[in-house]
Amino acid sequence: MSGNKYWSKIVGELDPYVPGEQPKLSNLVKLNTNENPYGPSPKVLDAISASLDDDLRLYPDPNGDLLKQAIARFYGLNVSQIFLGNGSDEVLAHIFQALLKHKNPILFPDITYSFYPVYCGLYQVPFERVSLAEDLTLQVEDYNKANGGIIFPNPNAPTGRLLPLAEIEGLLQSNQDSVVVVDEAYIDFGGESAITLVDRHPNLLVVQTLSKSRSLAGLRVGFAVGHPSLIEALERVKNSFNSYPLDRLAIVGGVAAFDDKDYFQKTCEAVICSREKLASELSALGFQVLPSAANFVFVSHPKYNAADLSAGLREQGIIVRHFKQARIDQYLRITIGRPEQNKQLLDVLAVLLGYL
Ligand SMILES: *Cc1c(COP(=O)(O)O)cnc(C)c1O
Repeated sequence: MSGNKYWSKIVGELDPYVPGEQPKLSNLVKLNTNENPYGPSPKVLDAISASLDDDLRLYPDPNGDLLKQAIARFYGLNVSQIFLGNGSDEVLAHIFQALLKHKNPILFPDITYSFYPVYCGLYQVPFERVSLAEDLTLQVEDYNKANGGIIFPNPNAPTGRLLPLAEIEGLLQSNQDSVVVVDEAYIDFGGESAITLVDRHPNLLVVQTLSKSRSLAGLRVGFAVGHPSLIEALERVKNSFNSYPLDRLAIVGGVAAFDDKDYFQKTCEAVICSREKLASELSALGFQVLPSAANFVFVSHPKYNAADLSAGLREQGIIVRHFKQARIDQYLRITIGRPEQNKQLLDVLAVLLGYL
């Protein structure tokens, strides 16, 4: 059914985001939504278990202060520079409404996180797509025009390509009249965070999530870091929408995740090491592999159709992500799995490519 008389006008016009498949079968090798192949820190699980008591009858702290303090400790920030949300998707939603909705269109790359145009539809934010270069790199000069704001992931999704911090700084310098949002969902897998720039740039907002590098996609915790006046705008929207975006378990689990630096470093290093190994093995199979600073690789094969490869992998119980989108329809985005999963992927690909 496509709408009826009870729907508001905008609902009929929305074009909702379609997340990667979350299959009900558990025996699949799931390399399609960039989840961390390792579990969360055992200290996170302990902290959550310790909070499973009668206090769940009580509302959580609406400000999540303990988690703001843990993030402030980790990055050397003041809590007034931190905003928390129910996953970074919710943080992003509030950003579009609070800081990116202006008369001029906002700018984002033509190849990027596909939730951005969806939020533009929901909040009626005008936007313009800026083409990435032929090699799918982002050229900051192309953003040198009147705009209502700029947003891009770094590393970019789904390419995995990293924009150096010096270029972000250049972009901030030449664009002081609107907000620049850097979505750092994958920054811990090989990039340098722009959080170090927020003290010098009042128009910079950095967004991060605990879903990828801290292995807590199921807990739903994201945050933004920026000048207190940007944070205040987000708090105003949040407190007009849902006062309690983070539940009690998410707050204590998030604190433990930031406090266990050793586990965080160890698992990030393991993913990075597997990525480099997988990238070279895929190259050996004839794939072109874009340089990645994320927990996935973006690859294409000059002789094989990407949709066919994706379907062939699926038949063998391995799911990867294929985007039916101009410019990237010959690419596969493959999440880095555990070593044995990466090996399974390579074995199946070798058969599909006729090597075995
Ligand atoms: C995964 C991802 C997010 C969303 O993360 P959640 O915190 O799980 O909502 C945001 N931006 C990009 C680019 C992502 O890949």
